Amino acid sequence: MVGMKKKRIVIGNWKMNPPTLADAKKIFSKIKQLSAEVSGVLVVCPPATYLNALVSSYKGKKIMFGAQDAHWLNNGSMTGFLSPTMAQSAGAKYLIVGHSERRALAGETPEIIAKKVLAGVEAQLTVILCIGEKVRDRNAEYLTVIREDLRECLKKIDKRMMAHMMIAYEPVWAIGGRDAMSPSDIHGMTIYIRKVLTELYDKQISDATQILYGGAVNVDNVADIVKDGEIDGLLVGRDSLIPENIMQIVAVANGK
Ligand code: PEP
Repeated sequence: MVGMKKKRIVIGNWKMNPPTLADAKKIFSKIKQLSAEVSGVLVVCPPATYLNALVSSYKGKKIMFGAQDAHWLNNGSMTGFLSPTMAQSAGAKYLIVGHSERRALAGETPEIIAKKVLAGVEAQLTVILCIGEKVRDRNAEYLTVIREDLRECLKKIDKRMMAHMMIAYEPVWAIGGRDAMSPSDIHGMTIYIRKVLTELYDKQISDATQILYGGAVNVDNVADIVKDGEIDGLLVGRDSLIPENIMQIVAVANGK
């Protein structure tokens, strides 16, 4: 709508950082303080052992919480795993699934990811499904990679469940790198992802699904990415641990 500012969600993926709960509380306390001046929602995804303490220390509405991963089962003999219900009962409202680091380091396949996506939705979490090509080849094979990955990872999700899904497009080569993808290429990929979602579901669902970009987003490139990338939000790794940076990213993403 003309004149209306678009609200864009920002997801902060803390990964396996910081080293102690005391450090996590320090970072979060600064984020809380800075959030008072910023409009827009930040979803903090800390390591699971910090979730409860951070959730309990916050009463506002601008910060929400997410888990970085969860198993597809809700309980059982699964040593070392976290269930989606556990994440939910610790205060998470969001769940990241299929991050490229889990695919690479924990051997997650689209088959496993599809089960986790369904389990997350069934636990009443909003699932952020991460997809992205490893390389951008000249023959545009990466488009087939993205389409097949979306098809397989979403195969247990019906039209109704899509209301609880977000897609985070994260080209693997940009994650942790120096440069983000160019805003015009990001725009091209969001168009393509919407086309695939239309094929898998319908145009209405495709239009309604939030598509996020992730990969080397920082305070210097965020303005161009939101101006020309046509995205509904951002997934941020490194800068999400620097309170001033992540809150500036939230501010710029929401029109400041
Ligand atoms: C990520 O881990 O998903 C990510 C986008 O990391 P970074 O922002 O550090 O590139």
